[in-house]
Amino acid sequence: MKRLKILGVPIDKVDMDSALSRVADCLRQKKKCVVCTPNSEIVMLAQTSGELRNFIETADLVVPDGIGLVLASRIVKKPLSERVTGIDLMDRILAYCSENGKSVFIMGSKPGVAEKAAQNISEKFKNIKFAGTHHGYFKGYHTGVENSTEEDEVIEKINAAKPDVLFVAMGAPKQELWIAKHRDRLGSNIIMGVGGSADVYAG
Ligand code: UDP
Repeated sequence: MKRLKILGVPIDKVDMDSALSRVADCLRQKKKCVVCTPNSEIVMLAQTSGELRNFIETADLVVPDGIGLVLASRIVKKPLSERVTGIDLMDRILAYCSENGKSVFIMGSKPGVAEKAAQNISEKFKNIKFAGTHHGYFKGYHTGVENSTEEDEVIEKINAAKPDVLFVAMGAPKQELWIAKHRDRLGSNIIMGVGGSADVYAG
């Protein structure tokens, strides 16, 4: 898979189908895959945040979630072909999981929202297996509280539920920094930040 750089930030040259097939390969091979979906704003933030930049550089799949990135890529010979939005990719991953018996967990959004999102997703994808949900307002690294027991409990809850796919819906760049901090402790096969997607599915 080819990567190009925009303002020094790596972006994979993928379209929706190749991004999904990469995720599906990782699920089949049980290979850990951290998915990042930066837009222009995140690429700009990565100019000044070494932590964020390092996260993107070490992510296994970096999809261009912004038309600005597609346009910016046109200065190179073989530019990005299309925008792959996080929510569209999440929807395709959900469909894949539903068809292939893979389980999902949504962590993030306000209390009650991820549960409602899970309900609506279960209506849309009849065979989806929900491993669980949890809101994103516990004390922890993303709220500036290091080594919170509440955060440890959430990580333990996720790992005990053994989801194949973990969607982290805490908005960018909070979710990216949270995943960067905890990726080694999280047992899920696919870990992906999905911004405000839980709110969208909750309706
Ligand atoms: N969120 C969260 N924990 C936080 C902050 C935000 O779970 O500490 C959730 C919020 O409820 C919303 C999502 O993250 O569902 C996106 O938040 P926001 O609108 O701030 O980010 P953006 O959509 O602009 O990335």
